[in-house]
Amino acid sequence: MNYNSPNDIKEFLDSYGFSPQKRFGQNFLIGEDVRRQIISLLKIKNDSKIWEIGPGMGAMTTHIFETLDNEGHLDVFEIDRGFIKMLTDLYGERENFNIIAGDMVKTWKKFYAENGKPDRIFGNLPYNAASAMIASLIENNAVAQRMVFTIQKEVGLRMAGKPGSKEYSSFSVLCQFACDIVYEDEIRAGAFFPVPEVTSAIVSLTPHKKFDYLIDKPGFFKFLRTVFSSRRKTIFNNLKGYGKELALSSLEKEGIDKSVRVETLPVETIVSLYDRIRKEL
Ligand code: SAM
Repeated sequence: MNYNSPNDIKEFLDSYGFSPQKRFGQNFLIGEDVRRQIISLLKIKNDSKIWEIGPGMGAMTTHIFETLDNEGHLDVFEIDRGFIKMLTDLYGERENFNIIAGDMVKTWKKFYAENGKPDRIFGNLPYNAASAMIASLIENNAVAQRMVFTIQKEVGLRMAGKPGSKEYSSFSVLCQFACDIVYEDEIRAGAFFPVPEVTSAIVSLTPHKKFDYLIDKPGFFKFLRTVFSSRRKTIFNNLKGYGKELALSSLEKEGIDKSVRVETLPVETIVSLYDRIRKEL
């Protein structure tokens, strides 16, 4: 099967009686150079344990098997029953290949609990579910040594957004809390079939341990949602739910002006503020 050819893809889909499903964000990456760029950014080794999210018909999967030997393993998470059948026909015989069927956001935790953390996670993610998938991995501490995702450009800009920019959001802080984020490249819509309405971006994530001292991570993720709940409000107003006195004294002790907006503060400052509030709660 030639994954670079829209005609071949159409024929292949026809032979199974399928067509691309918009609700599952099915835009296939037909640019081989871009596919190879993504695989190269993933820095896989022969024995890597890899998760791929949304393999579709296997356009990326096929490149993984060019590097992986029998010591390595590829687990793929796919929701579309038709593609699961196709992938089983294509790769089902391989011992180092496994399909986890269903919605990845719902299936990965059980799989992770039973099989442990992979070394690499990647995927050309469905546009409508990409942020939820990435957030779910980070919030549940399933951050692999290296992760590479293709997502909508705007989501990539938010992941890498800097304080004070319009892209900087609770999602930026969540991603940068756990990983160094590199906005690697953009992918033009024409590199996909069917052609999407948006531009895509490749983003790489490498975990860092800057905030490992923070013992209550779930509490921090909840705090992030609270402190970013209204961008128009001052940080003090967003923090009132913790009690006015506690909010005021914590801001003061951290040297943060109560009238600033949270989206101007660096990740380090937001983490430190949470740590202060947690200790004084
Ligand atoms: N990897 C292929 C490629 O690069 O050409 C297909 C990528 S396509 C953008 C997204 C893939 O994610 C599709 O195969 C789609 O069926 C799958 N998908 C969508 N939502 C999903 C979910 N919640 N869980 C698992 N897979 C999902």
